[in-house]
Amino acid sequence: MKEASNSNELFKRAQHSIPGGVNSPVRAFRAVGGNPRFMVSAKGPYLYDEDGNQYLDLINSWGPMILGHAAEVVNEAVQKAIPNSLSFGAPTRKEVEIAELIVSMVPSIEKVRMVNSGTEATMSAIRVARGYTGRDKIIKFEGCYHGHGDSFLISAGSGAITLGVPDSPGVTKGTANDTLTAPYNNLEAVNILVEANKGQVAAIILEPVAGNMGLVTPQQGFLQGLRDLCDKEGIVLIFDEVMTGFRLAPGGAQEIYGVTPDMSTLGKIIGGGMPVGAYGGKRALMDYVSPAGPVYQAGTLSGNPIAMSAGMAMLNFLKDHPETYQQLERTTASMVAGMQQNMQQLGLSYTINRIGSMFSIFFTKEQVVDFETAKTSDTALFGRYFNSMLNRGIYLAPSQYEALFVSTAVTEELVEQYIQANLESLKEAQ
Ligand code: PLP
Repeated sequence: MKEASNSNELFKRAQHSIPGGVNSPVRAFRAVGGNPRFMVSAKGPYLYDEDGNQYLDLINSWGPMILGHAAEVVNEAVQKAIPNSLSFGAPTRKEVEIAELIVSMVPSIEKVRMVNSGTEATMSAIRVARGYTGRDKIIKFEGCYHGHGDSFLISAGSGAITLGVPDSPGVTKGTANDTLTAPYNNLEAVNILVEANKGQVAAIILEPVAGNMGLVTPQQGFLQGLRDLCDKEGIVLIFDEVMTGFRLAPGGAQEIYGVTPDMSTLGKIIGGGMPVGAYGGKRALMDYVSPAGPVYQAGTLSGNPIAMSAGMAMLNFLKDHPETYQQLERTTASMVAGMQQNMQQLGLSYTINRIGSMFSIFFTKEQVVDFETAKTSDTALFGRYFNSMLNRGIYLAPSQYEALFVSTAVTEELVEQYIQANLESLKEAQ
């Protein structure tokens, strides 16, 4: 690994003109120490930085690059679309086709609206739920992250917890009062909240598999229990599948767990690396959205032709190659098995949570099932581990409270390299 002098220099410069030197907080490496690496290119499993260093990438742009970087199938579609103009601000055939594709792939979605980010998707989904039910309150789960909309920056995971601001200043008391929170995987707590706010809860929103407090999977009966409660109380159940959509299966976590929400939010993979989000659900709910209905939501660049081309190429590939998910499962299972063997060899017993191609190592011996147990992790140890891995050319998410994403570009040989780096880094970090 070469000196990171060009990255260091750029980071110094960046801090004069960009808050904290970055355009999204976790990128700043605040939680792990050291300076972020500035990237110039990426291909397949690798990232290349300003100093000519190569990294095996396990963030993959925080999820979207499921086929690795610069996947030909996506890049070709983008290149083909560019000469026809970057934006029309008028409807296009591609928007119809991607909507049909999403409807055919995601069980809960009968109609869908394209937006530009996961944040827009979740903000819009709760507005629809509120408009439809005529109720104001929502329930979210501690440690879940749904983007940076005001209503969600309450007990928020991801960068918000990493930087110590799960409840962000700037969110009004009124907004905060309308967001009720419950511990993840705790159906009883949700029942109590709903009972105490009878007839006032518009929506329950959650990551059906949580990736923003590190990876936490839903315990048996949790999702179905929420489904039953929402049916009984007339509450809109929203699965935020911005991370898990098309990542765990073509139909996301809802396909895997067999629980169908009323609405779903999507992002990341759906844009193939371009800025895209979407929200959709039952016809009756989505027909509440303007101009079909009264709930207003709009976007100058929504349904952008270049972004739609990238997204469609990605989704079509995943639809036509279901074996992708088996490959990802095998690769990620061997990575985690190798890590477990390493820990056994070193007499360590940390917790690894995994589903499909998402996983997290928590530096705690506790079973991690919610935000409280995730927070028992030794974050200083995580920081040392992160930096040891980085020095060995492995690029992990720079926070304990993030999931890692494996791409199809990770070969068996790279799995071996990863496991070896993990062994050395675990030793070094203790
Ligand atoms: N929802 C979930 C589950 C996410 O993981 C994220 C981002 O990481 C978002 C929403 C927000 O998406 P975006 O960053 O595109 O606004």
